Amino acid sequence: MTAVDAAAARPVGYRTQVLPAAPPPSSPAARRTMRANRRRDTRCEVALRRELHRRGLRFVVDAAPPGTNRRRRADVLLRGERVALFVDGCFWHSCPQHLHLPRANREWWRQKLASVVARDRDTDLGLQAAGWLPLRVWEHEPAQVAAARVLAVLRHREASGRTGPLEAACARLRASGAAPCRTVDP
Ligand SMILES: [Zn+2]
Repeated sequence: MTAVDAAAARPVGYRTQVLPAAPPPSSPAARRTMRANRRRDTRCEVALRRELHRRGLRFVVDAAPPGTNRRRRADVLLRGERVALFVDGCFWHSCPQHLHLPRANREWWRQKLASVVARDRDTDLGLQAAGWLPLRVWEHEPAQVAAARVLAVLRHREASGRTGPLEAACARLRASGAAPCRTVDP
């Protein structure tokens, strides 16, 4: 996190972490990988948005809810439902199925990827503190599956008057054999 990031961060509920400067890419292939890492409008984000839209949901893209850190923008913001949806890339967000550490500069990468996960959890806490529900899907999840999962959470919240604990919604989803709900991670 840069000094500018740190200054813009909320004073409470958002940790900052200082990492050594990034080492230079170890190879032309690594450089291409880094450059190919688009921050928004990735193919899976677009596919998920299409599925959500097809199911009647309306949303804004790449936005932070009012009252939360504007640098932690959600990929999809369902304002009426107060849900912030993130499509987490498997590499950067350490998907358990596809996690791998590059061999070059391994220790730096270990710290870097751990800091991304810590930042995600911190973002979730900030959203919850502001009354928003953070939901995260993996880049590798088929868009239809991810969209159905989001819909299931919304329906459950609606049925429970939005007052039911999130953990109960996630437990129900897990019991139904759906993909693990990451919003209950400690
Ligand atoms: Zn994955």
